[in-house]
Amino acid sequence: MDSFLLKDKFIGSMLGTHIGDALGMPVEGKGYEAIEKNFGEIRDMLDARLGAGTYTDDTEMMIALAESLVEHRGFNGQDMAQRFADNFNPDRGYGSGTIQALFMIKSGMPWEEVGERVFYGGSFGNGSSMRVAPIGALYYNSPVKLHEVACLSSRITHAHILGMEGAALQAMAVSKAINLHPHKNVDARQFIDDLIRSIPLEADIYKPKFKVMEAILETPDDKKVVVEMLGHDSSAPNSVPTAIYSFLTHTHDFEEAVVYAVGLGGDTDTIGAMTGAISGGFHGKSRIPSRWLEILENGRKGRDYIEMLAVKLWKMTSVDS
Ligand SMILES: [Mg+2]
Repeated sequence: MDSFLLKDKFIGSMLGTHIGDALGMPVEGKGYEAIEKNFGEIRDMLDARLGAGTYTDDTEMMIALAESLVEHRGFNGQDMAQRFADNFNPDRGYGSGTIQALFMIKSGMPWEEVGERVFYGGSFGNGSSMRVAPIGALYYNSPVKLHEVACLSSRITHAHILGMEGAALQAMAVSKAINLHPHKNVDARQFIDDLIRSIPLEADIYKPKFKVMEAILETPDDKKVVVEMLGHDSSAPNSVPTAIYSFLTHTHDFEEAVVYAVGLGGDTDTIGAMTGAISGGFHGKSRIPSRWLEILENGRKGRDYIEMLAVKLWKMTSVDS
């Protein structure tokens, strides 16, 4: 693939996370009917806790994850865990399990032990899937490594097999989107079949989700069915497939995919972030609406910083290959 297109896609995937996160945050927890009734379609960033265009835990953790990958030229568990803890800003809306994990990390517990202690047997929330775009980008042409690093990065806070495989599926979806040419049609069934093949036996629960996804590919406007069948809560099995579906039913346009994802209600910032990561990886930054890019927060670790991290990851792939 053309190297500058690849660079554009890396940036698109990470800024796509920020955009979906920021667009979804103001309506987090609301149902799709309530959103429709009170807001109609959400196409512009509404005012939010920290202002319009600000990000939540999803993007904050993605930044820490990317910083660690760049600094160590790959995965380093202790460093990544430490960066999650160092970047932690309680105003960004973290889940209770992740907060628990971050405090254990801060207290000096080795990273391998933390995840198992969050809930019984580890969390299968979507908190490790939402931050995984940089792994999908960095390992876009090494699927085995991608799976390994996605699972390890998840284990720090979400050690349940369904949490880890959710992160792996999301990372794989991002990498597949990066590998596709943005001006060609996406074969949604092929995309789904490839993902199904990557699911290990222990995470079998994801398979029927993808089968259902295939069956309802033509009817995304029936939100009731989509939400009932795929889910929109904060568990990985009930949100990662939903984000992949939001992309696959709106491959022609970044904006349509993210607006659709947020419109499904529920865990809107995370489903928006994950859809934005996949769709941004497909289209690249150049096909993301500029009115959205312009409104993103741009302080010390804001939009430009995220773009710089994406460029560093891109440079790592051209040196290593
Ligand atoms: Mg969030």
